[in-house]
Amino acid sequence: MNTVSNTVMDVEYEQPQPDAVPVGGVCATKATKHAWARVPVEPGPIERTALKDKIRRLLKERKAVMVSHYYVHPDLQDLAEETGGIVSDSLEMARFGRDHPATTLLVSGVRFMGETSKILSPEKRVLMPDLDATCSLDLGCPIDEFSAFCDAHPDRTVVVYANTSAAVKARSDWLVTSSCAVDIVRALKDRGHKILWAPDRHLGAYVQRETGADMVMWGGSCIVHDEFKAFELAALKKEHPKAKVLVHPESPADVVALADAVGSTSGILKAAHEMDAKEFIVATDKGMMHKLRTLNPGKVFLEAPTAGNSATCKSCAHCPWMAMNGLADVARVLETGANEVHVDPALGLRARLPIDRMLAFTSALKGGRDAGSLVPLIGAA
Ligand code: SF4
Repeated sequence: MNTVSNTVMDVEYEQPQPDAVPVGGVCATKATKHAWARVPVEPGPIERTALKDKIRRLLKERKAVMVSHYYVHPDLQDLAEETGGIVSDSLEMARFGRDHPATTLLVSGVRFMGETSKILSPEKRVLMPDLDATCSLDLGCPIDEFSAFCDAHPDRTVVVYANTSAAVKARSDWLVTSSCAVDIVRALKDRGHKILWAPDRHLGAYVQRETGADMVMWGGSCIVHDEFKAFELAALKKEHPKAKVLVHPESPADVVALADAVGSTSGILKAAHEMDAKEFIVATDKGMMHKLRTLNPGKVFLEAPTAGNSATCKSCAHCPWMAMNGLADVARVLETGANEVHVDPALGLRARLPIDRMLAFTSALKGGRDAGSLVPLIGAA
Protein backbone atom coordinates (compact mmCIF):
# COMPACT_ATOMS: atom_id res chain seq x y z
CA MET A 1 0.00 0.00 0.00
CA ASN A 2 1.34 3.46 -0.84
CA THR A 3 2.13 5.86 1.97
CA VAL A 4 -0.19 8.86 1.75
CA SER A 5 1.72 12.14 1.99
CA ASN A 6 0.46 15.39 3.45
CA THR A 7 0.45 19.04 2.44
CA VAL A 8 1.01 21.63 5.16
CA MET A 9 -0.97 24.86 4.89
CA ASP A 10 -0.41 28.16 6.65
CA VAL A 11 -3.64 29.33 8.35
CA GLU A 12 -4.20 32.87 9.60
CA TYR A 13 -6.56 33.47 12.51
CA GLU A 14 -7.53 36.31 14.85
CA GLN A 15 -6.33 36.41 18.44
CA PRO A 16 -8.60 38.79 20.42
CA GLN A 17 -6.85 41.16 22.81
CA PRO A 18 -9.22 41.59 25.76
CA ASP A 19 -9.57 45.23 26.76
CA ALA A 20 -10.49 46.16 30.30
CA VAL A 21 -13.77 47.54 28.96
CA PRO A 22 -14.90 45.87 25.71
CA VAL A 23 -16.19 48.28 23.05
CA GLY A 24 -19.90 47.68 22.37
CA GLY A 25 -19.67 44.58 24.53
CA VAL A 26 -16.98 42.94 22.35
CA CYS A 27 -13.16 42.77 22.70
CA ALA A 28 -12.23 45.45 20.18
CA THR A 29 -8.59 44.76 19.33
CA LYS A 30 -7.14 41.69 17.68
CA ALA A 31 -3.75 40.35 16.66
CA THR A 32 -3.29 38.28 13.51
CA LYS A 33 -1.67 34.94 14.30
CA HIS A 34 -0.55 32.01 12.20
CA ALA A 35 -1.17 28.30 12.66
CA TRP A 36 -0.83 25.36 10.31
CA ALA A 37 -2.88 22.44 9.08
CA ARG A 38 -1.50 19.15 7.75
CA VAL A 39 -3.92 17.90 5.13
CA PRO A 40 -3.63 14.33 3.81
CA VAL A 41 -3.59 13.77 0.06
CA GLU A 42 -6.58 11.74 -1.17
CA PRO A 43 -5.71 8.05 -1.55
CA GLY A 44 -6.24 6.46 -4.97
CA PRO A 45 -9.22 4.13 -5.52
CA ILE A 46 -7.45 0.85 -4.66
CA GLU A 47 -5.83 2.22 -1.53
CA ARG A 48 -9.10 3.86 -0.49
CA THR A 49 -11.02 0.59 -0.68
CA ALA A 50 -8.28 -1.26 1.22
CA LEU A 51 -8.20 1.38 3.95
CA LYS A 52 -11.97 1.29 4.39
CA ASP A 53 -11.92 -2.52 4.69
CA LYS A 54 -9.13 -2.31 7.22
CA ILE A 55 -11.01 0.29 9.30
CA ARG A 56 -14.20 -1.83 9.32
CA ARG A 57 -12.19 -4.81 10.57
CA LEU A 58 -10.25 -2.83 13.19
CA LEU A 59 -13.38 -1.16 14.57
CA LYS A 60 -14.77 -4.64 15.35
CA GLU A 61 -11.49 -6.03 16.71
CA ARG A 62 -10.88 -3.02 18.96
CA LYS A 63 -14.52 -2.76 20.15
CA ALA A 64 -14.46 0.79 18.87
CA VAL A 65 -17.14 3.08 17.48
CA MET A 66 -16.58 5.89 15.02
CA VAL A 67 -17.98 9.34 15.80
CA SER A 68 -17.67 11.84 12.95
CA HIS A 69 -18.52 15.51 12.52
CA TYR A 70 -20.55 16.78 9.55
CA TYR A 71 -17.52 18.74 8.28
CA VAL A 72 -15.08 15.81 7.82
CA HIS A 73 -14.45 13.95 4.56
CA PRO A 74 -17.55 12.10 3.19
CA ASP A 75 -15.68 8.77 3.49
CA LEU A 76 -15.37 9.25 7.25
CA GLN A 77 -19.04 10.23 7.54
CA ASP A 78 -20.21 7.19 5.57
CA LEU A 79 -17.92 4.79 7.42
CA ALA A 80 -19.18 6.05 10.80
CA GLU A 81 -22.79 5.46 9.83
CA GLU A 82 -22.37 2.09 8.16
CA THR A 83 -20.41 0.71 11.13
CA GLY A 84 -22.97 1.73 13.78
CA GLY A 85 -21.41 5.06 14.74
CA ILE A 86 -22.77 8.56 14.17
CA VAL A 87 -22.32 11.68 12.06
CA SER A 88 -23.44 14.70 14.00
CA ASP A 89 -22.70 18.04 15.63
CA SER A 90 -20.28 18.34 18.55
CA LEU A 91 -22.95 18.02 21.25
CA GLU A 92 -24.50 14.88 19.84
CA MET A 93 -21.05 13.38 19.14
CA ALA A 94 -20.11 13.63 22.83
CA ARG A 95 -23.51 12.44 24.03
CA PHE A 96 -23.48 9.47 21.65
CA GLY A 97 -19.95 8.49 22.72
CA ARG A 98 -20.92 8.69 26.40
CA ASP A 99 -23.97 6.45 25.97
CA HIS A 100 -22.45 3.89 23.54
CA PRO A 101 -21.13 0.62 25.02
CA ALA A 102 -17.89 0.71 22.96
CA THR A 103 -14.69 0.97 25.03
CA THR A 104 -12.87 3.01 22.37
CA LEU A 105 -14.22 6.12 20.65
CA LEU A 106 -12.64 7.10 17.33
CA VAL A 107 -13.47 10.80 17.02
CA SER A 108 -13.11 12.35 13.56
CA GLY A 109 -13.26 16.09 13.96
CA VAL A 110 -11.10 18.65 15.77
CA ARG A 111 -9.30 18.52 19.08
CA PHE A 112 -11.98 20.07 21.32
CA MET A 113 -14.43 17.38 20.16
CA GLY A 114 -12.06 14.62 21.28
CA GLU A 115 -11.54 16.41 24.60
CA THR A 116 -15.27 16.82 25.18
CA SER A 117 -15.78 13.11 24.47
CA LYS A 118 -13.01 12.24 26.94
CA ILE A 119 -14.48 14.57 29.60
CA LEU A 120 -17.87 12.85 29.29
CA SER A 121 -16.36 9.35 29.04
CA PRO A 122 -13.19 9.38 31.16
CA GLU A 123 -13.18 5.59 31.42
CA LYS A 124 -13.07 5.15 27.62
CA ARG A 125 -10.12 5.38 25.27
CA VAL A 126 -10.61 8.29 22.88
CA LEU A 127 -8.52 8.29 19.69
CA MET A 128 -8.31 10.93 16.96
CA PRO A 129 -6.82 10.68 13.45
CA ASP A 130 -4.70 13.80 14.08
CA LEU A 131 -4.32 15.43 17.50
CA ASP A 132 -3.10 18.66 15.90
CA ALA A 133 -6.49 19.30 14.27
CA THR A 134 -7.52 22.47 16.05
CA CYS A 135 -10.01 25.33 15.65
CA SER A 136 -9.54 29.10 15.35
CA LEU A 137 -12.04 29.65 18.17
CA ASP A 138 -10.10 27.37 20.51
CA LEU A 139 -6.71 28.81 19.45
CA GLY A 140 -7.98 32.37 19.81
CA CYS A 141 -9.14 31.88 23.40
CA PRO A 142 -6.10 30.95 25.54
CA ILE A 143 -6.95 30.13 29.14
CA ASP A 144 -4.72 32.74 30.84
CA GLU A 145 -6.13 35.69 28.89
CA PHE A 146 -9.65 34.33 29.11
CA SER A 147 -9.35 33.80 32.85
CA ALA A 148 -8.21 37.42 33.29
CA PHE A 149 -11.23 38.56 31.22
CA CYS A 150 -13.53 36.56 33.54
CA ASP A 151 -11.80 38.00 36.62
CA ALA A 152 -12.48 41.50 35.27
CA HIS A 153 -16.23 40.72 35.15
CA PRO A 154 -16.95 38.81 38.38
CA ASP A 155 -20.66 39.71 38.34
CA ARG A 156 -21.32 37.85 35.08
CA THR A 157 -22.32 34.26 34.41
CA VAL A 158 -19.68 32.74 32.11
CA VAL A 159 -21.18 31.03 29.06
CA VAL A 160 -18.77 29.38 26.63
CA TYR A 161 -19.25 27.75 23.30
CA ALA A 162 -18.27 24.10 22.82
CA ASN A 163 -15.35 25.11 20.55
CA THR A 164 -12.96 25.71 23.45
CA SER A 165 -10.24 23.89 25.39
CA ALA A 166 -10.98 21.79 28.46
CA ALA A 167 -9.35 24.54 30.56
CA VAL A 168 -11.70 27.24 29.21
CA LYS A 169 -14.69 24.96 29.75
CA ALA A 170 -13.51 24.40 33.33
CA ARG A 171 -13.51 28.20 33.87
CA SER A 172 -17.15 28.48 32.73
CA ASP A 173 -20.57 28.21 34.36
CA TRP A 174 -22.44 26.99 31.28
CA LEU A 175 -21.42 25.34 28.04
CA VAL A 176 -23.53 25.84 24.91
CA THR A 177 -23.52 24.69 21.30
CA SER A 178 -25.04 26.67 18.45
CA SER A 179 -28.18 24.51 18.71
CA CYS A 180 -28.98 25.47 22.32
CA ALA A 181 -27.18 28.80 22.88
CA VAL A 182 -30.27 31.00 22.40
CA ASP A 183 -32.45 28.89 24.74
CA ILE A 184 -29.85 28.77 27.51
CA VAL A 185 -28.92 32.46 27.38
CA ARG A 186 -32.61 33.42 27.29
CA ALA A 187 -33.27 31.30 30.39
CA LEU A 188 -30.30 32.91 32.17
CA LYS A 189 -31.42 36.40 31.17
CA ASP A 190 -34.99 35.73 32.32
CA ARG A 191 -33.57 34.88 35.75
CA GLY A 192 -31.54 38.07 35.99
CA HIS A 193 -28.10 36.86 34.87
CA LYS A 194 -25.70 39.13 33.00
CA ILE A 195 -23.53 37.16 30.60
CA LEU A 196 -19.85 36.91 29.75
CA TRP A 197 -19.75 35.12 26.40
CA ALA A 198 -16.86 33.41 24.59
CA PRO A 199 -15.37 32.86 22.15
CA ASP A 200 -17.32 33.44 18.87
CA ARG A 201 -18.32 37.10 18.47
CA HIS A 202 -20.73 36.46 15.57
CA LEU A 203 -22.63 33.72 17.37
CA GLY A 204 -22.56 35.88 20.52
CA ALA A 205 -24.02 38.86 18.64
CA TYR A 206 -26.73 36.63 17.15
CA VAL A 207 -27.63 35.29 20.61
CA GLN A 208 -27.70 38.85 21.96
CA ARG A 209 -30.04 40.00 19.17
CA GLU A 210 -32.34 37.02 19.74
CA THR A 211 -32.48 37.26 23.54
CA GLY A 212 -31.75 40.92 24.40
CA ALA A 213 -29.37 39.66 27.12
CA ASP A 214 -26.72 41.93 28.66
CA MET A 215 -23.51 40.39 27.23
CA VAL A 216 -19.82 41.21 27.11
CA MET A 217 -17.95 39.11 24.58
CA TRP A 218 -14.65 37.62 23.70
CA GLY A 219 -13.88 38.60 20.08
CA GLY A 220 -13.02 35.28 18.43
CA SER A 221 -14.27 33.99 15.10
CA CYS A 222 -14.40 30.86 12.98
CA ILE A 223 -12.06 31.26 10.00
CA VAL A 224 -14.57 29.46 7.76
CA HIS A 225 -17.85 31.22 8.62
CA ASP A 226 -16.22 34.63 9.01
CA GLU A 227 -15.48 34.54 5.27
CA PHE A 228 -19.05 34.49 3.94
CA LYS A 229 -19.88 37.72 2.09
CA ALA A 230 -23.27 39.47 2.22
CA PHE A 231 -22.92 41.49 -0.99
CA GLU A 232 -22.10 38.42 -3.09
CA LEU A 233 -24.78 36.39 -1.31
CA ALA A 234 -27.41 39.00 -2.19
CA ALA A 235 -26.28 38.78 -5.84
CA LEU A 236 -26.53 34.98 -5.80
CA LYS A 237 -30.02 35.25 -4.30
CA LYS A 238 -31.04 37.43 -7.24
CA GLU A 239 -29.76 34.78 -9.65
CA HIS A 240 -31.75 32.10 -7.77
CA PRO A 241 -34.88 33.92 -6.59
CA LYS A 242 -36.64 30.75 -5.43
CA ALA A 243 -33.70 29.48 -3.37
CA LYS A 244 -33.94 29.56 0.42
CA VAL A 245 -30.85 30.74 2.30
CA LEU A 246 -29.62 28.64 5.24
CA VAL A 247 -26.99 30.27 7.45
CA HIS A 248 -24.91 29.10 10.41
CA PRO A 249 -24.87 31.79 13.14
CA GLU A 250 -21.04 31.84 13.28
CA SER A 251 -21.39 33.94 10.09
CA PRO A 252 -21.24 37.77 10.11
CA ALA A 253 -24.46 39.65 10.98
CA ASP A 254 -25.02 40.99 7.44
CA VAL A 255 -24.95 37.40 6.12
CA VAL A 256 -27.28 36.19 8.90
CA ALA A 257 -29.65 39.04 7.96
CA LEU A 258 -30.15 37.49 4.49
CA ALA A 259 -31.11 34.07 5.88
CA ASP A 260 -34.46 32.33 5.54
CA ALA A 261 -33.33 30.02 8.35
CA VAL A 262 -30.48 30.44 10.85
CA GLY A 263 -29.29 27.31 12.60
CA SER A 264 -26.61 24.96 13.84
CA THR A 265 -25.48 22.14 11.56
CA SER A 266 -28.40 20.05 12.83
CA GLY A 267 -30.72 23.05 12.44
CA ILE A 268 -29.61 23.54 8.82
CA LEU A 269 -30.27 19.85 8.06
CA LYS A 270 -33.73 20.09 9.62
CA ALA A 271 -34.59 23.29 7.73
CA ALA A 272 -33.44 21.81 4.40
CA HIS A 273 -35.62 18.77 5.00
CA GLU A 274 -38.71 20.64 6.16
CA MET A 275 -38.73 23.78 3.99
CA ASP A 276 -40.89 23.69 0.91
CA ALA A 277 -38.19 24.65 -1.61
CA LYS A 278 -36.20 22.82 -4.26
CA GLU A 279 -33.10 25.01 -4.12
CA PHE A 280 -30.99 26.21 -1.18
CA ILE A 281 -27.97 28.45 -0.69
CA VAL A 282 -25.97 27.25 2.30
CA ALA A 283 -23.57 29.32 4.41
CA THR A 284 -21.60 26.80 6.43
CA ASP A 285 -18.58 24.53 5.92
CA LYS A 286 -19.00 22.73 2.60
CA GLY A 287 -18.41 19.39 4.34
CA MET A 288 -22.13 19.67 5.17
CA MET A 289 -23.06 19.35 1.50
CA HIS A 290 -22.51 15.58 1.61
CA LYS A 291 -25.21 15.03 4.23
CA LEU A 292 -27.56 17.65 2.78
CA ARG A 293 -27.40 16.06 -0.69
CA THR A 294 -27.63 12.47 0.59
CA LEU A 295 -30.69 13.18 2.71
CA ASN A 296 -32.45 15.39 0.13
CA PRO A 297 -31.88 13.79 -3.28
CA GLY A 298 -34.47 15.91 -5.09
CA LYS A 299 -33.09 19.24 -3.86
CA VAL A 300 -30.23 21.44 -5.09
CA PHE A 301 -27.68 22.91 -2.67
CA LEU A 302 -25.43 25.83 -3.64
CA GLU A 303 -22.48 27.08 -1.62
CA ALA A 304 -22.80 30.62 -0.27
CA PRO A 305 -20.07 32.92 -1.66
CA THR A 306 -16.80 33.72 0.12
CA ALA A 307 -13.92 35.87 -1.09
CA GLY A 308 -13.16 32.93 -3.41
CA ASN A 309 -10.82 29.95 -3.48
CA SER A 310 -7.97 32.07 -4.76
CA ALA A 311 -8.27 34.71 -2.04
CA THR A 312 -6.87 32.96 1.06
CA CYS A 313 -6.75 29.39 2.31
CA LYS A 314 -9.72 30.31 4.54
CA SER A 315 -11.92 31.24 1.59
CA CYS A 316 -12.65 27.77 0.28
CA ALA A 317 -15.44 27.34 2.89
CA HIS A 318 -13.81 24.19 4.22
CA CYS A 319 -12.10 24.02 7.58
CA PRO A 320 -8.41 23.13 7.08
CA TRP A 321 -8.34 21.40 10.47
CA MET A 322 -11.41 19.27 9.74
CA ALA A 323 -9.61 18.35 6.50
CA MET A 324 -6.77 16.84 8.57
CA ASN A 325 -8.92 13.77 9.22
CA GLY A 326 -8.10 11.07 6.66
CA LEU A 327 -8.61 7.34 6.12
CA ALA A 328 -4.93 6.43 6.52
CA ASP A 329 -4.69 8.04 9.96
CA VAL A 330 -7.99 6.49 11.10
CA ALA A 331 -6.60 3.05 10.19
CA ARG A 332 -3.23 3.81 11.78
CA VAL A 333 -4.56 4.97 15.16
CA LEU A 334 -7.01 2.06 15.38
CA GLU A 335 -4.17 -0.35 14.66
CA THR A 336 -1.56 1.16 16.97
CA GLY A 337 -3.59 2.98 19.64
CA ALA A 338 -1.66 6.18 18.83
CA ASN A 339 -3.16 9.65 19.20
CA GLU A 340 -5.04 9.01 22.40
CA VAL A 341 -6.74 12.09 23.88
CA HIS A 342 -5.84 12.77 27.51
CA VAL A 343 -7.49 15.31 29.80
CA ASP A 344 -6.21 15.90 33.32
CA PRO A 345 -8.80 14.13 35.52
CA ALA A 346 -9.30 17.04 37.95
CA LEU A 347 -9.65 19.51 35.08
CA GLY A 348 -12.01 17.10 33.33
CA LEU A 349 -14.23 16.85 36.41
CA ARG A 350 -14.52 20.66 36.62
CA ALA A 351 -15.06 20.97 32.85
CA ARG A 352 -17.82 18.40 33.05
CA LEU A 353 -20.03 20.60 35.26
CA PRO A 354 -21.01 23.13 32.54
CA ILE A 355 -21.37 20.31 30.01
CA ASP A 356 -23.71 18.36 32.29
CA ARG A 357 -25.74 21.53 32.90
CA MET A 358 -26.18 21.97 29.16
CA LEU A 359 -27.11 18.31 28.69
CA ALA A 360 -29.67 18.50 31.53
CA PHE A 361 -31.11 21.68 30.01
CA THR A 362 -31.37 20.32 26.47
CA SER A 363 -32.79 17.03 27.71
CA ALA A 364 -35.51 18.89 29.68
CA LEU A 365 -36.25 21.05 26.63
CA LYS A 366 -36.52 17.99 24.38
CA GLY A 367 -38.77 16.24 26.90
CA GLY A 368 -41.14 19.22 27.04
CA ARG A 369 -40.19 20.01 30.66
CA ASP A 370 -39.48 23.49 32.02
CA ALA A 371 -35.78 23.67 31.17
CA GLY A 372 -35.52 27.28 32.40
CA SER A 373 -36.34 26.20 35.94
CA LEU A 374 -32.93 24.43 36.00
CA VAL A 375 -31.20 27.81 36.03
CA PRO A 376 -31.99 28.99 39.60
CA LEU A 377 -31.62 25.42 40.89
CA ILE A 378 -28.18 25.08 39.35
CA GLY A 379 -27.01 28.68 39.51
CA ALA A 380 -23.57 29.95 38.63
CA ALA A 381 -20.51 27.95 39.60
S1 SF4 B 1 -15.16 25.17 10.97
FE1 SF4 B 1 -14.61 26.95 12.24
S2 SF4 B 1 -15.57 26.52 14.23
FE2 SF4 B 1 -15.47 24.56 13.10
S3 SF4 B 1 -13.53 23.64 13.72
FE3 SF4 B 1 -13.09 24.79 11.84
S4 SF4 B 1 -12.40 26.81 12.58
FE4 SF4 B 1 -13.41 25.79 14.29
